[in-house]
Amino acid sequence: MSKSKKTTKTAAAAAASATGMPDHLEEIRTKVFVRSTHLDHTNAAEDPDAFRALDFDNSFSLDDFKQNFKITIQEKSAEKLVFDMVGASAPIANALRRILISDVPTMAIEKIIMFQNTSLIHDEVLAHRIGLIPIAADPHMFKYLSESNGEPNEENTTVFTLEILCTKNPRALPSAPPSVQFNNGTVYSSALKWVPQGSQAETFKDAPIRPVHDDIILAKLRPGQSIEAELHVIKGVGRDHAKWSPAATAFYRQLPDISFSEPFYGAEAQALKALCPMNVFDIEDLGSGPQAVAARPRDCTLCRECIRDPEREKRIKLRRVRDHYIFSIETAGQLAPETMFRDALIELKKKLGVVYADLTANEQAPAAE
Ligand code: SF4
Repeated sequence: MSKSKKTTKTAAAAAASATGMPDHLEEIRTKVFVRSTHLDHTNAAEDPDAFRALDFDNSFSLDDFKQNFKITIQEKSAEKLVFDMVGASAPIANALRRILISDVPTMAIEKIIMFQNTSLIHDEVLAHRIGLIPIAADPHMFKYLSESNGEPNEENTTVFTLEILCTKNPRALPSAPPSVQFNNGTVYSSALKWVPQGSQAETFKDAPIRPVHDDIILAKLRPGQSIEAELHVIKGVGRDHAKWSPAATAFYRQLPDISFSEPFYGAEAQALKALCPMNVFDIEDLGSGPQAVAARPRDCTLCRECIRDPEREKRIKLRRVRDHYIFSIETAGQLAPETMFRDALIELKKKLGVVYADLTANEQAPAAE
């Protein structure tokens, strides 16, 4: 499995000639061997079997992974986490991305008992809007409803109420805007009132359960109109409904790697610097006069503007580092982004455990006759 990925061009060509490989295949094979970690421009070669016919092993190696895997946090705030994941393969990065979107549990409004709704919005539309409100409630403190055979209790459900009536402000002038003329003319998410069940008030006294944002508009009312409803919040995952997904965005890109096969000096260097919309290039004197250098490759968006000219394309190597991912997670507010990533790792481990148990069971099963 683990043939050296650093075989030289000469060795690769010799091996190919020895097998009588056609020239065009020999050329591809040589390219893959020589540049196994730096793909030209935006070409990709992540499939482990993609180059099997060329005798190149692109598959996952646990030893390499253990030795090289590294995470470096680049940016962290309450809403966003950006980190470098080095030494991982695309399937691992993609598995984490997909788990972040669809398998990290959160709490969301699932059931709405509508007692009264005299607003212009139909019950089902209003229920849909309310259901999408992100709820700040620690999902680790709750069980899934299915674990209690669908019976709601304080371990799997919490409750909000929404009771609001629009009235006319008697002191407002007729020319005043609706926000002054009417009390509760606009219903915001802040109107949701948490009703702790059982011991929930004590359990969550340090972080009371609430909507993540207070200013989400749910409906508009006019004097005399009212809404009265009870909302049941349960634990779920994004694969069942997007309202449970904590990921506003979760994506990665490979670190760009820009180098020159022939340097750019003087006016050419200045022209190249001016060409890049992301200001990736600087002019530096490296001993042989001012020349263009790729000073900020992380900022490169691989827009290809600098290689649009065929002459320049021959001199600039625009590549991506194969095992270096710049990962970005933005939360919708239910969980901190670092908690989302930790939970995604836990979920990935659980899934791998299932696969491992299945494989082990199959290995131990007696062969069918
Ligand atoms: S690909 Fe675009 S962003 Fe990247 S270095 Fe070239 S011009 Fe700049």
